[in-house]
Amino acid sequence: MTHALITGGAGFIGSHLADRLIAAGDTVTVIDNLSTGRYKNIAHLDGHPNFHYAIEDIRNIHVLDRLVSECDVIFHLAAAVGVQKIISQPIDTIEVNIGGTEVVLQTARRYRKKVMVASTSEVYGKGIRFPFHEDDDTVLGPTIRSRWSYAASKAIDEFLALAYHREVGLPVVIFRLFNTVGPRQSGQYGMVLPRFVQAALANEPISVYGDGEQQRCFCNVADVVTAIHELSQLPAAVGQVFNIGSNEEITIMELAQRVRQRTGSQSDIRLIPYDEAYEAGFEDFRRRIPSLDKIRQTTEWEPATSLDTTIDQIIAYYREEQTHA
Ligand code: UDP
Repeated sequence: MTHALITGGAGFIGSHLADRLIAAGDTVTVIDNLSTGRYKNIAHLDGHPNFHYAIEDIRNIHVLDRLVSECDVIFHLAAAVGVQKIISQPIDTIEVNIGGTEVVLQTARRYRKKVMVASTSEVYGKGIRFPFHEDDDTVLGPTIRSRWSYAASKAIDEFLALAYHREVGLPVVIFRLFNTVGPRQSGQYGMVLPRFVQAALANEPISVYGDGEQQRCFCNVADVVTAIHELSQLPAAVGQVFNIGSNEEITIMELAQRVRQRTGSQSDIRLIPYDEAYEAGFEDFRRRIPSLDKIRQTTEWEPATSLDTTIDQIIAYYREEQTHA
C-alpha cells in the first residue's frame, strides 16, 4: 500500500484527502503548522494505525527530510490561503508559498519521490478567454496590489515544479484548484460560502461584495479529492498541469439567495463595496471558469455533487458546530 505525505493535511482540502486515502487503505502522514489548518479537522483520524501527523512547519527541513524519506508520494497542499489573509499578510504568503514549495521539491528530489503540487485558478489572473485552459496566457495585475502576490507565488511554484521535472526527471503533477467548498472550510480567511452559511444561521446580514454579479463555479471538496487521487495514480499525468473544479457558474448574489433559502434564514443581503471589504483598489474577477477538457481526456473524473447538496452539507456542518460550541 502507498504511504502518502500530505503537507497542509490539517487544512480543509488536505484533511478530506487524508480521509480518502485512509479509506482506500493507504498510510497517511500529515505535516501542518496549523497556521490555517486545524487539529480538529484530523482529530477523528488520530489513533488510526495508518495515520500519523507532525505539527510542524514544512520549512523545518530536518522533519521534512525524515517524512519525505519514509513516504512514496507527497501531496503538497501547504500554502497561504484565502484572499483576506493574503491581503493582510503578504510577506507570509510569498515566503510560505515559494519557500515551502522549494524545500518540498528539493527534498523530494533527494529521495526521488513523486510530488502532487496544489496550485490555484488565481494563476490565470484576469484571464483572456473563458473557460480557462491550462496552456492559456495569464494576465496578472500590478505589484502594488497584494492580491496578485498569491497568483505570482503559485505561478513560481508551478515553474519550479516543472523545472524539476524537466531538468532532473522528478515526477510532478500540478493541479489548479478552482473554488472548492464543503464541510470544514473556514470563513475566517475570506471564503465566501462558509461566510454566507454562518451569517445566515446566525440571522446576521449576508455581505455580498461588489455588485454581486461576479460569477464563480463551486466544486464539492469530495469531488476535488477524487480528482487529485485519480491524477496521482496516472503515469500519463506526470509533468502536466490540470484544472480541477466545477464548470457550473453562479453569481454571488444568487449564491447568497440560495443560502438564505436553504437555511430558512431571515438575514438581509447587503452589498458591500470592494474597497471596504478588502483594500482600496481591490480587483475582483467577474468570472472564473475552468475548461475540464484536459482532465476529462486523462481521467474518468467529472464533478458529481450538486451545489445544493454541498450547501446543505455546509449548513449541517455549521449547525453541528453550533451544538458543540
Ligand atoms: N465574497 C462576498 N462576500 C464574502 C466573501 C467573498 O461577496 O463574505 C465574494 C468575493 O468578493 C468574490 C466571491 O465572493 O467575488 C468569491 O470569493 P472567495 O474569496 O470565496 O473566492 P475567490 O475570490 O478566490 O474566487
